[in-house]
Amino acid sequence: MRPLPFREVVVAPESVRRALTQMLTRPSPPQSLLVVGMAGVGKRTLARSLAAAWLCPQRTPDGHCGACPVCQKWSDAGEHPDLRILRPDPDQIKIDAVRGVRQWAVFAPTVAPVRFVLLEEAHLLNPAAANALLKTLEEPPPRYHFLLTAPASDLLLQTILSRCRIVRLGALPTAQVAAHLQARCPLPEATVQAIAAFSDGALGRAIRWAEALQGSDNAPRELDALQALLGVFARLGQASLEDALRLAHEFREACKALEGGSPSRSARAALALGLEYLVQWYRDALAMQYPDAPLRFEAHRDALRQLAQRFAAPERTHDLQAIIQARRAILGNANPQLVTENLFVRLLTVA
Ligand SMILES: [Zn+2]
Repeated sequence: MRPLPFREVVVAPESVRRALTQMLTRPSPPQSLLVVGMAGVGKRTLARSLAAAWLCPQRTPDGHCGACPVCQKWSDAGEHPDLRILRPDPDQIKIDAVRGVRQWAVFAPTVAPVRFVLLEEAHLLNPAAANALLKTLEEPPPRYHFLLTAPASDLLLQTILSRCRIVRLGALPTAQVAAHLQARCPLPEATVQAIAAFSDGALGRAIRWAEALQGSDNAPRELDALQALLGVFARLGQASLEDALRLAHEFREACKALEGGSPSRSARAALALGLEYLVQWYRDALAMQYPDAPLRFEAHRDALRQLAQRFAAPERTHDLQAIIQARRAILGNANPQLVTENLFVRLLTVA
């Protein structure tokens, strides 16, 4: 895919967008820039867009011009003669790839004033490759610049970090994710809200779910599981104490389905994730006392109001603590059935 012009890239927070816009107005790009952010937040899209902007001699704060001889060299596949992209193959970046870059770097740029090397998932450089890269960063060939992406900066060698300017992408507010989805995917409002609420502010992830939904009659399994979770949470406002064990069971079943969402997710991690969503649910229930507070689960305002009306605020605060403790116990070695049953009994006990 061709790179997006910078103005079309969704960048949060706003302070990062301003800093990058400023960098684009300077005569030359930073020597090495690291883009950090969680999966699905748009690191790759941003890095490509920045590379395109800095290669373009006619760039503006909006990004590359798209028309000059340099911009015309972009292929539909997103390749450019003055850009080299390294990415894990399949699960690490090896030294041969870095050596290849060093051989490439003896040549002057083909059409652009500079050349860029983009290292995607730079935390997956193996140790030998990381050391080779470090040498290159320490003595960069003239007119060569580096862009790196990683989920977190502390996954990289300190020596590499110290050579990079770091840009940290953050989560988008739920309402903004929903607005972006609405603009690009014709899906029912309730579905858009559910995806936005579960996206953790990662627009890329939200778009992937939305596109998967459009392409088939079956919701992605993970989204199904999340909807089931919300169904359990929504009943906490009216269920009676006798329902506690059944709700705990349904909660565990929904988490089981969540487990399939990521190949490396264990049963315990899936339960912990389910409890994190429950924490969010109770945070929303607490926020109900402020009429204009933004809610993560906006589409479930009625169910949240029920919960808020049934349990007084101090009680909900204690329940929130209990959920956090339960999550900790699950990640320790506690018995999942026991922990969740105790938790739901507690959540349904009216003081
Ligand atoms: Zn251009």
